[in-house]
Amino acid sequence: MKYILQIHTGSWRDTADRPEEMIRKIREIASRIRVEQVIIGWNTDPAVYEKTGEALHAAGIRMILWLPVFSEIDKIAKPDEALDIFGKRITTPEQVGKSFTFACPTSPNNVRIAEEIYDKYFSGCGFDGVFLDRIRSQSFVSGVPGVLSCGCGRCRKAFLQRGVDIDEVGKLYREKGDSFFDMAAWPLNGQFRLKNGMAQRFFEAKEEMVAGAVTEICRYFREKGMTVGLDLFAPAVSRFVGQRYTLITQNADFIKPMLYRRTDAPAGIGYEYSMFEKAAPGARGFCKPAMDRAFLESQLEAMGEVACEKYPGIELNYDAELVRTDTDYIRESLAAIRDCGFEGAALSWNIMQVPNAHIEAVYRFEQEQD
Ligand SMILES: [Zn+2]
Repeated sequence: MKYILQIHTGSWRDTADRPEEMIRKIREIASRIRVEQVIIGWNTDPAVYEKTGEALHAAGIRMILWLPVFSEIDKIAKPDEALDIFGKRITTPEQVGKSFTFACPTSPNNVRIAEEIYDKYFSGCGFDGVFLDRIRSQSFVSGVPGVLSCGCGRCRKAFLQRGVDIDEVGKLYREKGDSFFDMAAWPLNGQFRLKNGMAQRFFEAKEEMVAGAVTEICRYFREKGMTVGLDLFAPAVSRFVGQRYTLITQNADFIKPMLYRRTDAPAGIGYEYSMFEKAAPGARGFCKPAMDRAFLESQLEAMGEVACEKYPGIELNYDAELVRTDTDYIRESLAAIRDCGFEGAALSWNIMQVPNAHIEAVYRFEQEQD
């Protein structure tokens, strides 16, 4: 298979790994498996990228900028913040951190910020593409207000144009409580459908609005001749955050869904499920699948209908509390990806801190294919 590596360089002005260390790590891995692209995080120090880009290009590997769009940016720009449909600011629990404040998806200002940040800090760094992260609304990590967003004046109009009156949606939620989220169907190899028509329509309209902004940003970068990739929630939970795969990918070259079955933090699938359960414990028709191989296969099947390139993202990082991965898990994930007919995978989310044994597991998996 072919692989994408990810390197998280810390945020904007944090101290990143030295380019020499990154280059050594990438070369070492690329000598064992076929590395096509390396996604490198957002750091305003151009020195992080200059030598790295030269070394990658010499090895025929593309260097892609990992760029957050609707979150994280408040540290270097002034985005228009997202509100919930009751017109209130959305608060995120302290332990999750400030980086989970989200910006409004329909604000032209916010779209421009993503483009301007690239132009200002990264356009001279030799990137071949961008990988758009946080292209979504907040999730149940911020409770019900997180998913029932954005309710700013602009989004209110955008919802109305799509036949959704958010005041009515808010009223409906106040009346029904948890049963607002009753499911008519929750197929794992597709998206859930809510029982209530208005509630369902709200989520569909949000998907259209998020996709509108994302396709515009994609166009901006593709017109520069760059590759554009998207970081997406797993299909089973993507509707909560406004991501419909077939819509959001219209202008994209590749997607990397976060098929994280062992991550007990935002974007981890089991974690997002448990946040939903916590926010709406009385919702009916909710099924909580085991995070097993069959579940992974259902997510791979759900990705299948998208036309662009697909690199299922598997977490290789390890943390005793938050990311309990192991070599069997990595092997099982890669085998499922291969058996479902995918040609590549993304090794997430920071190769500089992945335990050696986990990288070795990928080498062994590849050797067995020969
Ligand atoms: Zn808004």
